[in-house]
Amino acid sequence: MTSATPLPLYAIGLGSNRRHARHGDPRQVLLAALSALESDDIEPMDVSPIIASDPIGPSRRRYANAVALVASPLSPPEMLERLHEVESAFGRRTGQRWSARTLDLDILLWSGGVWSEAGLTIPHPAMQQRAFVLGPLRAIAPDWRHPLSARTVRQLAARLIRPKPVDPNAEAH
Ligand code: ATP
Ligand code: CA
Ligand code: CA
Repeated sequence: MTSATPLPLYAIGLGSNRRHARHGDPRQVLLAALSALESDDIEPMDVSPIIASDPIGPSRRRYANAVALVASPLSPPEMLERLHEVESAFGRRTGQRWSARTLDLDILLWSGGVWSEAGLTIPHPAMQQRAFVLGPLRAIAPDWRHPLSARTVRQLAARLIRPKPVDPNAEAH
């Protein structure tokens, strides 16, 4: 099918901090997840380098993280459902947030802008604070503008790594 209107784009965050019996280490889990995601209505357009990052929350395992750009006619709730299906196919058990998990797939950005309902918020509310999201995202979509802050991904990433100003009232020790 050809269409004059470009398909909506999604930026999908991928994370894994657990080996998969068949696919292997977290890096390989992410690569396999990308192929699993590809389908008639989800077309991967670009993928960032895979980075290793320190864990957040109670789990001590290191994460492999990446971001993919996919084009898809699916609505945001349909896309989230698909992501959950792929997570389940990789053996993710629902339960504790931030626990060790084989695969975590989040919707970070959507070219339609903002989506807000119980159970689905786009842009992903924590993306602006996360280097493991903004680093890979900057590699593939530096000029994508966050619809709420109006800053580009490049600007958001730069803000994260900039050192905090010195507090002039703090005593030197
Ligand atoms: P975080 O959201 O801080 O990265 P997490 O990915 O570990 O934490 P999960 O347990 O995977 O959290 O997801 C909890 C719920 O978050 C999901 O069931 C989903 O309904 C909801 N959710 C809300 N917004 C999004 C989004 N943009 N992408 C993915 N899930 C979302
Ligand atoms: Ca997540
Ligand atoms: Ca998630």
